[in-house]
Amino acid sequence: MAPITKECDYLVIGGGSGGLASARRASAWYGAKAIAIEAKRLGGTCVNVGCVPKKVTWNAAHIAETIHQAKAYGFSVQHTAPFDWNSFKNKRDAYVTRLNGIYERNLGNDKVEYIHGFARFTGKQEVEVTTDDGSKVQIKGKKILIAVGGRPALPDLPGIELALTSDGFFEIEQQPKKVAIVGAGYIAVEFAGMFQSLGTETHLFIRHDHFLRTFDPMIQEKVTAEYVRQGINVHKNSEAARIEDIGGGKKRFHYSDKDGESSVDVDEVIFAVGRKPEIDGMGLENVGLKLNEKSHVVVDEYQNTNVENVYALGDVCDKGFELTPVAIAAGRRLSDRLFGGKTDAHLIYENIPSVVFSHPEVGSIGLTEPEARQKFGDENIKIYSTGFTDMYFAMMEPEDKGPTAYKLVCAGPEEKVVGLHIMGSSSSEILQGFGVAVKMGATKKDFDQCVAIHPSSAEELVTLK
Ligand SMILES: Cc1cc2nc3c(=O)[nH]c(=O)nc-3n(C[C@H](O)[C@H](O)[C@H](O)COP(=O)(O)OP(=O)(O)OC[C@H]3O[C@@H](n4cnc5c(N)ncnc54)[C@H](O)[C@@H]3O)c2cc1C
Repeated sequence: MAPITKECDYLVIGGGSGGLASARRASAWYGAKAIAIEAKRLGGTCVNVGCVPKKVTWNAAHIAETIHQAKAYGFSVQHTAPFDWNSFKNKRDAYVTRLNGIYERNLGNDKVEYIHGFARFTGKQEVEVTTDDGSKVQIKGKKILIAVGGRPALPDLPGIELALTSDGFFEIEQQPKKVAIVGAGYIAVEFAGMFQSLGTETHLFIRHDHFLRTFDPMIQEKVTAEYVRQGINVHKNSEAARIEDIGGGKKRFHYSDKDGESSVDVDEVIFAVGRKPEIDGMGLENVGLKLNEKSHVVVDEYQNTNVENVYALGDVCDKGFELTPVAIAAGRRLSDRLFGGKTDAHLIYENIPSVVFSHPEVGSIGLTEPEARQKFGDENIKIYSTGFTDMYFAMMEPEDKGPTAYKLVCAGPEEKVVGLHIMGSSSSEILQGFGVAVKMGATKKDFDQCVAIHPSSAEELVTLK
């Protein structure tokens, strides 16, 4: 075995959202000697192939919508302004590259040693890193964090090698004229909304009647209906069958639905059907680490694995909230606990807000109505909901007006707000503030006591009857 060449207090495997947050806090705040290992690009999924390039693309799609709507407010802009996908993509790549540099400088500022390479366990406290030039670095860590995230999963279908995953979405050089997207989760729904707004003919294939099936039924039904209304071809109750190369860069996507077998010819087929932990080749068998049936690392509420001094967080662990701020919060609290003497520091995996950058946006925190009914019983649940047209659309023709819908799920005689589900413009921004209230245990009465902001959409949340 190669000799151990380095030792540290905290060895962090994975330079993504959770790993970087944890390593930096351990070193900068508590003076721990921390080493962070990253095999690809610093910033992980979020910065490189997730939240950041996605939101920038969503912004472009939002601008396309605004241009379309501007006429209704008296502006003489072309109905469909040309969009230069390729120059936008190059600018977006350059922004991400800038962020990679900033992340590396931040590590330096916080005195975290950074090694670029692939880490593999060779013992319970030892990791071997294979660097870009093939050389090996053996590192012993008193404490080791596994924060390696996940990667897109692909089904085993004939021709699947012709399909893109969400990673591939960010590599598309020219705007496709026509796309097929398979999946019903937030990533598929966001991609479909962005393509549609930017003028690509969009086909979305879902297995059931609705998408976003972990969200409240109101969200599932209203956003699916809105996508259909906007002209997205939502193929309900469909099943992907195979993909065929038909030349000229085009693909024939075969699927089945209630009418039997059918196909659609497209420029790109994108599968966004789930993600799996990025643990292949990490030598976890050398450590005896406990995994669940989907290969997520099993952790307790303090991010402890079954192996002493080995911790896991973020998308690789089995907590089920695959979101950047969740990984960051868990990482910071873990360092507070391990190196800052805050013995009870841990993330409470409850009332975590989440949004979907669909068209329109979705925001959700707490229990869905069915979850609340199951937990508290029908007789203890009161639902307040509303649907209306945002004043923004007042100047528009009926076919250009989008829906807004809000729901509060309240429990018990005090009507504690245990679920809040919103769909409509700026839902992501609105939810952040209301999330604080729900996290603090606000009741319907607390909501009502806050004076409304007028004219706004969010005021409906404090005036619900
Ligand atoms: C398309 C898309 C859109 C998303 N949008 C949002 C959003 O809007 N908001 C949101 O909150 N979340 C979003 N997410 C989810 C978010 O990106 C993840 O939850 C978050 O990045 C998880 O952080 P992490 O630290 O667990 O893992 P990651 O950020 O994935 O980082 C893990 C890192 O570990 C590295 N690594 C893996 N194995 C090894 C190894 N053996 N050795 C060394 N390095 C290794 C990987 O290269 C990677 O850089 C999105 C995800 C996707 C795919």
